[in-house]
Amino acid sequence: MGGKVGANCNICGSNDWADMNGRSGVRCASCNSLERTRAIKLVLDRLNIPKPGDYILHFAPERGLAEYFARVSPGGYAPVDFDPSLYSKTDVTKFDLTTDGESLPSDHYDLIIHSHVLEHVPCNLAYVFHHLSRALKATGYHIFSVPLMRGHYDEYFGPLSSEEAVRRFGQHDHVRRFGLADISRHLGAIVRINKNYSLYEYADEETISHHNIPASQRSGLHSSTVFVTRKQDYLLGEYERPAVS
Ligand SMILES: [Zn+2]
Repeated sequence: MGGKVGANCNICGSNDWADMNGRSGVRCASCNSLERTRAIKLVLDRLNIPKPGDYILHFAPERGLAEYFARVSPGGYAPVDFDPSLYSKTDVTKFDLTTDGESLPSDHYDLIIHSHVLEHVPCNLAYVFHHLSRALKATGYHIFSVPLMRGHYDEYFGPLSSEEAVRRFGQHDHVRRFGLADISRHLGAIVRINKNYSLYEYADEETISHHNIPASQRSGLHSSTVFVTRKQDYLLGEYERPAVS
């Protein structure tokens, strides 16, 4: 169904496409990658990461990326989720971002990665970023995406009907919305983010098109924007930029 003719998935190589929540032909029918997953892979490829031996912490591990990471760095790859029972693979371990941040080792990971996870986490985002940034090596990358929506930030950790959660946050199991109108006062107050994001910094037009990432998802701030951050981009810490070697 749908999908760009001749395009293939840059994660698994398939050229079968399916629909996703009304977005025609954007989901890889083989590994389930979405536009944003394939954009993340283009960014990783351009940065030439991860490398064999790297320590990788991957939240809500997308199947295609998980298989790729496990191939590249089998000994260092840690796929985690709040609910490991959602995954057919048994190597996904339980991790609760609202409480388990402090269990992470300091200066350990070469890559920390999560896509559309933070809208599900019912705790202060500064807590989450504090521990993820602490756990990142000075040379590491923290790469993530969140659903960015029009309007203002909102969050609520109390009980909420599905209807109310959909109305306020866009999905029944979301606890916050990342509003574009005040992004500098929530996400942007915690971590330095590139508001002028462009996927063209990481790949050329032909490559991006070939991997079926729609034109609307390539530049600016939206739900497929790939935030590439370093330890020193965490604004509530005092991390120094590593010396250039
Ligand atoms: Zn795929």
